[in-house]
Amino acid sequence: MPSPIRGRCLCGAVRVTLEPPTLFASHCHCESCRRAHAAAFVTWTGVPRERFALVQGEDRVTRYPSSPGAFRCFCSVCGSVMFTYYTPEHADFSDAAGTVYVPVAVLEGPLDRAPDSHVSMEEAAPWFAFHDDLPRYHAKTDERME
Ligand SMILES: [Zn+2]
Ligand SMILES: [Zn+2]
Repeated sequence: MPSPIRGRCLCGAVRVTLEPPTLFASHCHCESCRRAHAAAFVTWTGVPRERFALVQGEDRVTRYPSSPGAFRCFCSVCGSVMFTYYTPEHADFSDAAGTVYVPVAVLEGPLDRAPDSHVSMEEAAPWFAFHDDLPRYHAKTDERME
């Protein structure tokens, strides 16, 4: 069994673990990610729910519904977004209901894969300059844009 990948928030109150293998890694440019993280884009990975654990600081976690049934969960002390999940009835793309999404930026160890795409390109900040050749997609996994 591979050892878990650990993650922690800026202040250290909230800690999570992911059991690899992860399902994906990609850069999301949607407006919700941009505002929630106050950043140009967010690099996400994910694992099936049963391989995610909130191991410390559950009482510090605020669960913000950024869209119906989609909960962005952040440390109420320092603000780090630690994970996101969908309630089953609101998962709008395949497997989303069973997946917990974790920002790669809060992980401590190396991830088991490199980010391989940009998604939600239709909402990308116009001021961000791309410097890679990764494929860019409309929405999550739909049509490739360039
Ligand atoms: Zn914190
Ligand atoms: Zn996003």
